[in-house]
Amino acid sequence: MASRLERTRAGSTTSAAQSSANDASAAGALHVVATPIGNLGDLTPRAREVLAGAALVLAEDTRRTAQLFSACGISAPLASVHEHNEAARVPEILERLGRGEQLALVSDAGTPLVSDPGYRIVRAAAQAGFRVLAVPGACAAVAALSIAGLASDRFLFEGFLPAKDAARRTRLRELAIQQQTLIFYEAPQRLARTLEDLAAAFTPAREALVARELTKLFETAYRGTLAELARRAGQDADMQRGEIVIVVAGAAEREPDDGEARRVLEILLRELPVRQAADLAAQLTGTAPNQAYKLALQLSGQR
Ligand code: SAM
Repeated sequence: MASRLERTRAGSTTSAAQSSANDASAAGALHVVATPIGNLGDLTPRAREVLAGAALVLAEDTRRTAQLFSACGISAPLASVHEHNEAARVPEILERLGRGEQLALVSDAGTPLVSDPGYRIVRAAAQAGFRVLAVPGACAAVAALSIAGLASDRFLFEGFLPAKDAARRTRLRELAIQQQTLIFYEAPQRLARTLEDLAAAFTPAREALVARELTKLFETAYRGTLAELARRAGQDADMQRGEIVIVVAGAAEREPDDGEARRVLEILLRELPVRQAADLAAQLTGTAPNQAYKLALQLSGQR
């Protein structure tokens, strides 16, 4: 391991061109390369150079990456690496890195490992002492955040919420108190339902952005409160097409941590009238009675 680390430190610094794959004495390195999320113009010159010079490009879906390569005039060899074969591929990848090869890792679109495969390979390569180099570029989450006009000094990337209703609502209740801006990936057919759940679990007046088809022909940014966006998604079929990122403002500092009260109220309201449920929830959770009543009204849809 020590000698491998030494070789690694002596290796190349920034690009595949600098650490030629043909030079047997070069240190093997894994280049984690971002690819476009729609607009092919977003493939950086450096990404192109690294991919073109790689001994092997590990791709989530080789057919998708072959299309990108053909559009960009790249002809490096491809091997598939996805959720189901990633772990099994590790020994061969380490062996090739050990031979001094420059390997690249890409996903179907955007930055690998961001809601995409590659974690096991990156981890294994780093733990084995090989250089793992970032070749940054497009990422839908960051692109959406950059146009959201919401606080961006701190943000929480949640990725995809659970598809099952109960699990999704539970997770949203947990997130309701987070004060940093929240970023979600969502499938178009679930957009309306998720926005409704967000409006119910967070406050309906929270500001949000739905960013659709970023960098593509039908790129659209829908801005408004969660309640407004939920209403619009229910009526506007276009809004439910293509690829989607939802960015939601964090909880205001003065917003009480009412996650527990909400959970209790949701159960009590199935059996009891609003006033009685609110009184009991206030006693059980220590929430102020007027706050519990307000929440109970909100949850029972009477507001
Ligand atoms: N690794 C990718 C990245 O860096 O953004 C994300 C991969 S994840 C499997 C795919 C999800 O990202 C889509 O379902 C969508 O939520 C979001 N996404 C990807 N491309 C997008 C685009 N052009 N516009 C909006 N959302 C996009």
